[in-house]
Amino acid sequence: MKKETWRELTIGTINLNAGNSVVNLTGTWRSGRKPEFRPEHCIHCFFCWLYCPHFAIKVEGEKIAGINYDYCTGCGLCAEECPTKEKAIVMVPEEIKLAERRK
Ligand code: SF4
Ligand code: SF4
Repeated sequence: MKKETWRELTIGTINLNAGNSVVNLTGTWRSGRKPEFRPEHCIHCFFCWLYCPHFAIKVEGEKIAGINYDYCTGCGLCAEECPTKEKAIVMVPEEIKLAERRK
């Protein structure tokens, strides 16, 4: 059987609703671990904000203020890139309770 190339494949889903990423809570993808912010170690370099693929790092004024778990997928990039000796973001286990809405 001849395999299809990208030219023959049927086009998949197209989302026509602009700005839908606001209502698409990517935090529901998270499983098993989440980042924990430790402000006492933070030097506000903004590396975590820069690397987070879901804009889930909260900023207040000119300072990092925590994590928005509605959008955090738990990828761990923020903790990986945090440059301080005592990490200001560490990944911690998260118990998943399927019947409850995440906070
Ligand atoms: S774990 Fe990933 S998605 Fe969550 S705040 Fe860190 S970089 Fe963003
Ligand atoms: S990468 Fe670490 S030190 Fe830098 S702003 Fe984020 S939490 Fe703070």
